[in-house]
Amino acid sequence: MKQNPKLQTIQENMAPGAYTAHGFLGDDTRNLLDILKQDQFDINKLGTTHEEVARRMRYFTEIGITSPDVPIVVDDIYEVTVDDHRGYIPCPFADNVKEIKRNTKLTNLTLGKTIYWSDLTIHMIEKHGFYEGKGSFFRNDPDTLYMLLGL
Ligand SMILES: [Zn+2]
Repeated sequence: MKQNPKLQTIQENMAPGAYTAHGFLGDDTRNLLDILKQDQFDINKLGTTHEEVARRMRYFTEIGITSPDVPIVVDDIYEVTVDDHRGYIPCPFADNVKEIKRNTKLTNLTLGKTIYWSDLTIHMIEKHGFYEGKGSFFRNDPDTLYMLLGL
């Protein structure tokens, strides 16, 4: 589907080398509008919201921040490690938001699966419904997040 010029500009901000070395789209060949629509569809199907997913991610990150670089077991079935931050990164949606470059690693010990996100990932999910493109390092699709975060 064709997207408006504003989204097109944002998509260009997401290319490798624009805001970050690897960009936000991975090897996804869809345009930004189609990525957003598919993830919105999947979130609706799960009966949750972007805000709910982001709130759950922030819950773990905020616990991890209390002991940077040290794995912390949370609620018996999660292990969270938050790395120390190194500067700031602007949101590619060009809304003047800058997030700390800080990464969270979460392992669901019951499922034996690990996922990663950054503070910017949380912001982009919460405010823009953007989970990044397929193949992007911080991409976790709604189903994966729903399952691993225990939503
Ligand atoms: Zn933003």
